[in-house]
Amino acid sequence: MADLVIKNLHARTESAEILSGVNLTVRSGEVHALMGPNGSGKSTLSHVLMGRPGYTVTQGEITLDGANLVGLETWERANLGLFLVLQYPVEIEGVSASNIIEASQLSQNDDFDEVLRHVSQEAENLGIPLDHLDRGVNLDLSGGEKKRLETLQLVTLKPSIAVLDELDSGLDVDGLRVVSNRVERLTEEDGLGVLVITHYSRLLEELKPDFVHVFVEGKIVASGDSSLADELESDGYEKWTPSTETSVSLGGLS
Ligand code: ADP
Ligand code: MG
Repeated sequence: MADLVIKNLHARTESAEILSGVNLTVRSGEVHALMGPNGSGKSTLSHVLMGRPGYTVTQGEITLDGANLVGLETWERANLGLFLVLQYPVEIEGVSASNIIEASQLSQNDDFDEVLRHVSQEAENLGIPLDHLDRGVNLDLSGGEKKRLETLQLVTLKPSIAVLDELDSGLDVDGLRVVSNRVERLTEEDGLGVLVITHYSRLLEELKPDFVHVFVEGKIVASGDSSLADELESDGYEKWTPSTETSVSLGGLS
């Protein structure tokens, strides 16, 4: 059993505080969906969890299986079992996805043929042409193709907790189905714990959330079950955003 525990997390850039008191626990096998308006700090949360430079944690804690993550390098967090699919996956020239995947696999299994078979089988299931694995990571791939490749890394690395930042963006309908279905199976068969950031409940049809959280102005303002995702998709975030309340009350005055 793994758990990622986030307590009263505050984080800032040089110019402003962006996370203002996040509390969340993600355990093995659980799927948590995080939904919220643009600019509310969802990607910042994913970056701060993974240790991207440029953000300072000013209060609170992040632990993975009891180990304090704050202050650790990104690779150390990855070694402890944390994985992030970036909203905008980066392109890396000169290093291929197969280099990365095979190196990570060979550290756990020295049967090279078996590793190759496993990786190509998973790639085929995810609809990834093999030549995508041999070019620089994500180089010249479409948005959806990048998300498929990120998912292949998730499936082969087998982390304990994964943060998926808009895994659905850029994916076509078939891609969305195959990717979300594969991640759902990871939660069931390998006990992967997932924090998935999304705007659309469509992703959540296959990757079924146990909890849905509304994220506004740097923190979780409400939590519920999967029905909350449908409510958010049809009604938007108006009910949860303070500025809207102001305009409503001003409207009432005029
Ligand atoms: P979301 O993913 O919820 O749309 P982000 O976390 O990307 O939102 O951004 C939240 C806010 O923080 C935005 O106003 C964004 O411009 C700002 N922000 C995020 N990262 C940085 C940074 N490194 N430097 C300055 N501002 C940032
Ligand atoms: Mg974002």
